Amino acid sequence: MNLPVALVEALRQQARDAARNAYAPYSRFAVGAAVLTDKGEIYSGANIENASFGLSICAERNAIFHAVARGARKIVAVAVYTKTPQATTPCGACRQVLAEFGRDALVICFTDIEAAEQRHSLAELLPRPFGPESL
Ligand SMILES: [Zn+2]
Repeated sequence: MNLPVALVEALRQQARDAARNAYAPYSRFAVGAAVLTDKGEIYSGANIENASFGLSICAERNAIFHAVARGARKIVAVAVYTKTPQATTPCGACRQVLAEFGRDALVICFTDIEAAEQRHSLAELLPRPFGPESL
């Protein structure tokens, strides 16, 4: 999927901005994510950790839930920002949650190093998701 450059830049900016609000005192691994809906709206999220580690939430799921809570039901792209030398792809849980709302979504993983950017389809990252057809 090809998105207009300006739209990709808007996604990147919101993901980067969201990472500043990450609450990651335990891992010190701040992540920001921004999702683009089929209506052209962008919603962002950051990872939020908890002293009870299992209660932590990833930036990607936070952004997806933010979008869905605002009424979105279809996500066409997600940008994931980390301040690391290499781009970071979403964890398995986030891939599965994204599959619920954007099975064809474009996943843009980026850092401050332009050459590190990776683009994947969700189908590439999660080839056989669990879905309604599995029930
Ligand atoms: Zn995750």
